Amino acid sequence: MNLCSPSVVRRLMEEEGISFRKEFGQNFLIDPTVPERIAASCAERQDILVLEIGPGIGCLTQQLAEHYERVLAVEIDRGLIPVLGKTLADYDNVRVVNADVMELDLQALLSEEAGGREIAVCANLPYYITTPILMRLLECGVRFRSITVMIQNEVAARLAAKPGTADYGAITAVLGYYGTVKKLFTVSPGCFMPAPKVSSAVIRIDLFDTPRYTPRDEAFFFRLIRAAFGMRRKTLVNALGALGEGYSKEVLTEAITACGFPPTVRGERLSTEDFVRLADELVARKGE
Ligand code: SAM
Repeated sequence: MNLCSPSVVRRLMEEEGISFRKEFGQNFLIDPTVPERIAASCAERQDILVLEIGPGIGCLTQQLAEHYERVLAVEIDRGLIPVLGKTLADYDNVRVVNADVMELDLQALLSEEAGGREIAVCANLPYYITTPILMRLLECGVRFRSITVMIQNEVAARLAAKPGTADYGAITAVLGYYGTVKKLFTVSPGCFMPAPKVSSAVIRIDLFDTPRYTPRDEAFFFRLIRAAFGMRRKTLVNALGALGEGYSKEVLTEAITACGFPPTVRGERLSTEDFVRLADELVARKGE
């Protein structure tokens, strides 16, 4: 069964009396080369567990099941579960869970499922919730090896941006704390049914095995990044006024210059490493 054939997709959905649900970001892949390419980009080794978010009718799931030892696919739409029962019937290495990935206890589920295997994430993500899903994956306490996802091209540019460029933002600096991001390839709207209005891109985030950065106060480090980009047009000193943690302008300026930046620098020039240094400089000056 060719799951990337529009007539097959339509027939499978008609058989279950379901239609595309926009509120779940359902744009299914209909170009067979794309799921193949995404699956192949996900990991170098085969003996891993892959977490797929949003299998849809299962075109990427099938490819993942061919490439890797085990696949756990989490699908929010109950109507798609019987479809997946048919399309994945030949794969005994796939488990489908009907749930909202934002609500699941991923740590418990994955440790039970992985059986000691490394875990990678691979998904054609629903675009309405891309960033919250990525943040959840990064913060859920599971040590993923990598996260390979298709997202809007514009969001991919933001996630993979370099400091000092227009696309660089808080999410880029935060992602840099967890790993390195690479944009792999772009995918045109015509490869989906229904076709979205924008282009898409596949990125891969390779997560650090052991933390590369160890700020003295991790929560403060994240608050600092948020404040630095809260008012993008302002200088970093002025933007950090919104931190509301009692730092005077003098102390902020002193900490910024101690990191090797001029007092007029804007937040977008600082890399993740720079933010770690700045956070530590400020923690050391607390109460001054
Ligand atoms: N993997 C399929 C493909 O590539 O053709 C479908 C991808 S479609 C862009 C996104 C999928 O994510 C849909 O099947 C949708 O129902 C599912 N989804 C949306 N929100 C979800 C959530 N919070 N948790 C789990 N699945 C979700």
